[in-house]
This record gives sequence, C-alpha cells and structure tokens, in this order.
Amino acid sequence: MRIVRIENVGSLELHVIGDYEDERYFGTDAPYDFYLVTLDNKLLKGEPFFEEPTRAEVIAIAAANDLEEAQAEMKANGWQLCGVRKCTRIAHFEVILYDVYTDIGDVFFKQDEICPYICRDHMTENEEKASGVREPRGHIHYPFTNEYSAQGFTIYRPLDIAL
Ligand SMILES: [Zn+2]
Repeated sequence: MRIVRIENVGSLELHVIGDYEDERYFGTDAPYDFYLVTLDNKLLKGEPFFEEPTRAEVIAIAAANDLEEAQAEMKANGWQLCGVRKCTRIAHFEVILYDVYTDIGDVFFKQDEICPYICRDHMTENEEKASGVREPRGHIHYPFTNEYSAQGFTIYRPLDIAL
C-alpha cells in the first residue's frame, strides 16, 4: 500500500512517503494497491483509498479525525459522494436515467434513485460492464445504476468539483 502524508495542513500538500508490503517498507516504486493518508505521522482511521485522494478529499480529511467525519465534511462543502456501496470517493457525475418516447415526442430524464451520484472509476466500470443496446425504450443492465432495470439508459452529468 502507498502511504501518503499531508505535509502541511495549510497548503494541503500530499507527500508520498513510501510503500508497505506485508508490513515491510519498500521504496516508492514498489507496486501498491491503495493509499492510506497520515496526518502528523498519525494514520487516519477509515477505509483506504484505492487511488490517490483528490484535493477535495484531502481538505475534508485534514479537517476530520476519521472517514465518517471526512465524508460529512465533504457533504457540508457541497460535494457528493459516490453512491456505489462501500465507495468513499467523491462523485464526479450525477447519474440520470434517460429515455426517449418518439411516439409522443417526449423524453424521460430523472436522477437515478439508488445511485444518484457516481465517481469517475465506477462510471467507467459501469459503462464497460453494461450489457444491452442503447436505444429508445431499450433495456440495459448496469452493475451500479438503474437497479430496477427500467427502460432507457444511464447518462452522466459532470459535476463542477474543480479544486
Ligand atoms: Zn465510486
């Protein structure tokens, strides 16, 4: 795993301080599976990140003692969390169920009820593992969205989370 330290809470700089494997220290070029974040040499509680934390996440982590607090902080700042179960990432997209009714000249456009927001990684996985044809009144199976298999298909609206 990769250990990342928040060097300076004021500037929120991330510093990779090394990789650990079986509790032994390796150089930073060793393969790693996920990130843990430390603050003042203290490991923050919570689940590890599976990629480098975003700046928004680091801001939240620095202001909190554990991941639940961090997630509450993220929400308080207007960021949405990914709706995929057990995912702790900030969402990059709003998830929309979309369909077209050519017979009555209308569209269906509604936020996904089970997974209203999704992170970049899960959006990619959702699309790569989707099965079916994207067509009006069609049926597509997604791993994370449209859990009730309603007609139509999932589209994603980018969220403005530039930080
Ligand atoms: Zn996610």
